[in-house]
Formats: sequence, C-alpha cells, structure tokens
Amino acid sequence: MAKYIFVTGGVVSSLGKGLASASVGKLLESRGLKVTIIKCDPYINVDPGTMNPFQHGEVYVTKDGAETDLDLGHYERFTNASFTKDNNITTGKIYYSVITKERRGDYLGKTVQIIPHITNEIKQNIRKLGYGKKVDVIIVEIGGTVGDIESLPFLEAIRQLRLELGRGYAMNIHLTLVPFIKSAGEIKTKPTQHSVGTLREIGIIPDIIVCRTERPIPKEARDKIALFCNVDKEAVIPAIDVKSIYEVPLTFKKEGLDNLIVRLLNIHCEDSNLSLWEENVVRRLETATKEVNIAVVGKYITLQDAYKSIYESLTHGAIANNVKLVIRRIDSEDIEKKGARNCLSGVSGILVPGGFGDRGIEGKIAAVKYARENNIPYFGICLGMHTAVIEFARNVCGMKTANSTEFNKNTKHPVISLIEEQKKVKAKGATMRLGSYDCLIKKGSSAYRAYKKTKIVERHRHRYEFNNKYKEEMEKNGMNFVGTYPKQNLVEIVEIKGHKWFVACQFHPEFKSKPDKAHPLFAAFIKHASLASI
Ligand code: GLN
Repeated sequence: MAKYIFVTGGVVSSLGKGLASASVGKLLESRGLKVTIIKCDPYINVDPGTMNPFQHGEVYVTKDGAETDLDLGHYERFTNASFTKDNNITTGKIYYSVITKERRGDYLGKTVQIIPHITNEIKQNIRKLGYGKKVDVIIVEIGGTVGDIESLPFLEAIRQLRLELGRGYAMNIHLTLVPFIKSAGEIKTKPTQHSVGTLREIGIIPDIIVCRTERPIPKEARDKIALFCNVDKEAVIPAIDVKSIYEVPLTFKKEGLDNLIVRLLNIHCEDSNLSLWEENVVRRLETATKEVNIAVVGKYITLQDAYKSIYESLTHGAIANNVKLVIRRIDSEDIEKKGARNCLSGVSGILVPGGFGDRGIEGKIAAVKYARENNIPYFGICLGMHTAVIEFARNVCGMKTANSTEFNKNTKHPVISLIEEQKKVKAKGATMRLGSYDCLIKKGSSAYRAYKKTKIVERHRHRYEFNNKYKEEMEKNGMNFVGTYPKQNLVEIVEIKGHKWFVACQFHPEFKSKPDKAHPLFAAFIKHASLASI
C-alpha cells in the first residue's frame, strides 16, 4: 500500500511548496522509490485553463491534455513520474463532481454537505492515485496558506485520511517562513509557532517543519521551534535560500530530510544518491562562464511565474551547452513604443512564447522581423509560430495585411485561422487542442538535426492553426514547413530557408524539458545562440 506525505504551508504564500514537494519526490526517487505527487488547489475554477496568467502564472499542460497548476511543471522536471489530469484537483473539480452525482441521484435522501461528501470526494481523488499502479509514496501538496477559508475542506480531508491510513502510512510536512528582522538583527520563530498552532486547531500535527529562511537558523531557534511546535529537534529542517532551485534537493538531503521521512513512514530502502544531479545540473549551473543573452518577448513579462517552463527550459538548454544564461525579459508593448532595435540589440537569441489576445502582438511581430532580418537565432512557440508566419507573409510574401483571425476576423489574408472543428466550439473551458499529438519531421531541417528522429510527440494548447491555403505561396518564398501532424495535415513546425536557426513550432516543447535532459529544441536554440555570441 502506498504511503502518504501531506505538504502544507503557512505564514505567507509563495514559499515554494511546489518546489519542496518536487524536491522530496526527487530525493525519494533517488532512494529507489516510486513516487507521484498531487496538487490540491482551493480555487473554484475547475482548472486554471481559463485564468489570466497575471492571476495564476503559467498553465502547465500534461501529456493527456489537462490544463494544470504550474507546480506540476516542477514535479515533472524534478522526478521521473508521469503526470496526468488526476495529479491536480481543485475545489471546482470536486464540487462539479459532487453536484453531478447529486443531480444523478447518487445521494438520494441525503443532505449533501462539505463533511462528508466534499471531503470524501477529495479523499477518493487522492487515493485514486495509488490504485492499480505501483507507487510507494504519494506526496499531496495542499495549495494556499493554512488559515485560508478556501483550503479548509482539503485540510479536513487530509486530517481524516491520516487517521484512516494509520501510523507509519502517512505524515505531515509543514512549510513556514522564518523571517530575519533587520532592525532587531534576529530571525523570528513566532510566525511559525502561530502557523503550526492554526494547523493544530484543525487537528493536524506536523511531523516535520521545513523553515524557509534567508539566514542560517541558530540552534537555539531551531530548538525553540521544536519545543513550541511539538516536533523532534531534528525534524526542524532549515531551508535556506539557494541560488538555483535545482539545489533544493541537495539542501534537504544535507539536513537529513529524506532519512527522517523514510524513518517516519517505516520504509526500508537504499540511501539517497544525488551525485549525478549534483554533477550534471547544479555544478554545471555554477561553473558555466560564457554568457548567452536570450530575449524572451512576451506580454506577461513582469510576472515571474507566467513563463515558468520557458525560463526553466532555457536554463536546461544552457546546462546542456555549458553556458551561462542571461534572460532579457522584453515587454512586447515596449517594442511597439521604442522599436525592435532599441529593445533587442545585443541579444544572441530571441524567443516568442505562447499567448492569447492581441495586446502586444505587433511588438512580437516586430521582434520576429528583427530576428529574421538580422539572422539572429529565433525560437517561436505556439503564438510565437503564429507571429513568425504573419511576419513572413507580410514582409516577405507581400501580403501586407496578413494576420491571424484571432486578432482580425476580417483580415484579407488569414494565414492563421480556426479549423472547422474549432469554429463550432462555444465554451472556453478545456476546449482547445490540448495534450499530446504526433508530429512528423522532415529530414534535413533544423528540427530534425535537434531531435535526430522523424517522429516526435509534443504537447499542445491552442485553437488557431496555420492556414494550409497559404502553404504553397509561402514555401515558394522561403518558408519551410518541416513538421506536420499527419492525421489532419496540420502544420507543426516552420523554419526559414537560409537563416542561421529559425524554428517555430505550434506545440509547447517547454513542458517536456528536464534539467538533466534538456529538450532538443531548447538545447539547439541555446547552442546556436551561443555560437552567435562572442
Ligand atoms: N492564441 C493562440 C491560439 O489559441 C496561441 C496559443 C498559445 O500560444 N498557447 O491558437
């Protein structure tokens, strides 16, 4: 039977519970255990697919096409587990299911309530991950901060679960912040004490407290946390800020976190070994010196989380090429105001990521033009392929008004448009072309040189497609259509003849990159950008 680790967070949000959960997963995997991780999100949206990135950050897409929380990205990057729609539950998803059952008459005669109906549904969804699959440990991350009204049903569900599972089968890790107060010159344990107190009020007693901190936590402070929070002294684990997120598993190991976990869960397994990770990821990040400047041109640039997987994948590409990545985040609306040259001069590579809506679109198109005309490596992803196609149609093929029907329904040259099946779609939730699709790559292309194979599978999240009516005309002018989804003859990858490295894809390669196994396209992009930089 699988064993469970429940991860909660207190004091403030953005403590890095996702990274902590992913790091615990990584450590346990290195001990030969099979793990999976589930994220519980307390919002009422069924999934984050309909949320603005400014609200939610990136929407991560799993191979089965679920639009999920970005923490699943961390889970996939750190572990070898396979994640699907079942690895992310939300309040919306839980209520949707309970209300559907109620309408069907499944609870006939009963009053449907948060306890037990909602909590049972949550428990079932968590337990489902253990059914039929060989998983040793299920890590359950509860989103939000302890004390929020929204997360109460989830906390109640894990409280019950722990009781049902029994000693040695479940444990709780609580992540808190131990702030350093400059004026007092001291770190403070009180917020942690209060947060654990709140958790205790709802019946959850943590076994381990992980303390996020800027400064080392002195022994007396650790002992104090142990005493007031009712945990063993060795169960107070300091998690001091590190340079790279990929160091977190190493920090945890150094503090003995995984030993403690396997002891509490009564698991007999080998010791953890992160030497390959340390050597191939962390050391490489630390020692690379040659700088490569990459411009990411987007419209959610001010928000760190909006292009999470893109930034991480670029880092992976840099690790693979032993170079030091410097990301220049460029707001596409700034390009509209100041011009491409002023915003982009000096960069060795330009990436236009995915996006929706017309704000900033002309700035992105100008960035593509700048990359094409100056022979700067260009990587377009999803909307970044659309902008590449629009730019080429307008400025090379002479279709001055070419556009996507997403931005101009009545454009004379709809080079990007909806295919028939999407035209019928009215509802917005989970109705895009989502998840894994095959793509056949032409030999001799940059994409082929990167992948070294002709058949690939990549994840998608979009409605609009290249309009095949324009294929011949654009091909004549030097755009190569080198990747297609064979079943529907949809364009998946375009390149430009004679350009140093110009690859734009309809899919999202950033969802499949790992720190120790960079995605081939990111590795190739950084390689060419690095060749271009002195
Ligand atoms: N807005 C575009 C579409 O829906 C691109 C989507 C994306 O970049 N993820 O097709």
